[in-house]
Amino acid sequence: MVGEGAAVAACQVPGVRYVITMTGERQELERPRIVDTELPDACAVCGGTISARFSPQGVKGVCLTCHLVTTLAVAEVDGGMRIGHLAIGQA
Ligand SMILES: [Zn+2]
Repeated sequence: MVGEGAAVAACQVPGVRYVITMTGERQELERPRIVDTELPDACAVCGGTISARFSPQGVKGVCLTCHLVTTLAVAEVDGGMRIGHLAIGQA
């Protein structure tokens, strides 16, 4: 029980246990981490720009010129990125 005059935020009431802590950090962790970008000159077939989506499930891409659909492999090399094609299909 909180005494009179004590200004305690609702999330700090003594004796109350919360299943999930009230912090902004947790919200940041639960946000899906998806990044869309374009990779110029990356298509293995025509050399066109690939529109790529980086997500926790992997990297998928489609060529904006010839519509090649590909799964990309990304590796960090010497502070940069190396991108290769794992699987290729035509849409
Ligand atoms: Zn292409």
